[in-house]
Amino acid sequence: MLNPENLIRPEVLAMTRYAVTDADGLIKLDAMENPFPLPEPLAHELGQRLSQLALNRYPAPHPSALIEKLKRMMDVPSGCDVLLGNGSDEIISMLAVACARPGAKVLTPVPSFVMYEQTARLAQLEFIGVPLKDDFTLDTQAMSLALERHQPALVYLAYPNNPTGNLFDTDALEQIIGAAHASLVVIDEAYQPFAEHSWMKRLTEFKNVLVMRTFSKLGLAGIRLGYLVGAPAWLAQIDKVRPPYNTNVLTQAAAEFLLDHLTLFDKQAALLRAERARLATLLAQLPELTVYPSAGNFLLVRTPDAQRVFDHLLAQRILVKNLSKMHPLLLHCLRLTVGTPFENEQLLAALKTALVEA
Ligand SMILES: *Cc1c(COP(=O)(O)O)cnc(C)c1O
Repeated sequence: MLNPENLIRPEVLAMTRYAVTDADGLIKLDAMENPFPLPEPLAHELGQRLSQLALNRYPAPHPSALIEKLKRMMDVPSGCDVLLGNGSDEIISMLAVACARPGAKVLTPVPSFVMYEQTARLAQLEFIGVPLKDDFTLDTQAMSLALERHQPALVYLAYPNNPTGNLFDTDALEQIIGAAHASLVVIDEAYQPFAEHSWMKRLTEFKNVLVMRTFSKLGLAGIRLGYLVGAPAWLAQIDKVRPPYNTNVLTQAAAEFLLDHLTLFDKQAALLRAERARLATLLAQLPELTVYPSAGNFLLVRTPDAQRVFDHLLAQRILVKNLSKMHPLLLHCLRLTVGTPFENEQLLAALKTALVEA
């Protein structure tokens, strides 16, 4: 009798699937989504556009109008190329597959975005996690030593970092890019709309750096579009492992249309940044909580008991992310996505009772 166990790789058999909690009827503050839907007139106009697409045809493998617009709107330096992915998750997979020589390694500070490790392991690259310091800053000495010792093919630096929320120090990052002279360094700017700092304009200063971004945190998580920016010599290689029709016609057209309305998303990001500051101030007044500085659309907080606080919030129909078991540095930490002013009020009220009861 043939069983999946006979054919599927042991490491896949040992995995658990990426769990997404059913958020039906909940205030969803677990996944860094933008809480604002598209305004009705814009949604209507988008619908009109999408209704005219030839869904019977394969998408353009290199949608040049979209890519040109993206370059213009996102300050892509001249001479740099753009590679599109079905979310940055797919780009992370492509990078791993492209670099998976025997013995190749992926190195990142930890804790950081879980997909770096997960995709590395699936592509059979060794994963090296270098712990951040207690205050979540980069341990440049440990990073430099690890870079020298492991000579990783790929280095990921999330800027700002998820789940800790902080922006790494510019000097520290430059030092690490220098120490990683034999590696491809990917600066992941998924939270760029909330960070107001970027390495995009500095890309051409470095031979070994790529910048990765996504439409997801900006407000379009549903369309699944990420992009990688950098020197054509790198992107041409990575493009070879890209499934030819990885971004679909609906996504391409929606992105091209919505890039003409970037000011709307910029305004939403500004509102969320203001809400982040307000929420951080109010949370810091609760003596049981430690609130960490964040340049993303989320706040990391340390609680007296993360599971109990999480459960109390859920009982009040608010879903957040419990990171307590992700890494020792995150013991009793919760990650709270910044929502609408109303949602944030609900969160604050619920947290106050949760902290009393927990
Ligand atoms: C959310 C996130 C991404 C995301 O990805 P998409 O696949 O584009 O939705 C990438 N990097 C980091 C650090 C993130 O937090």
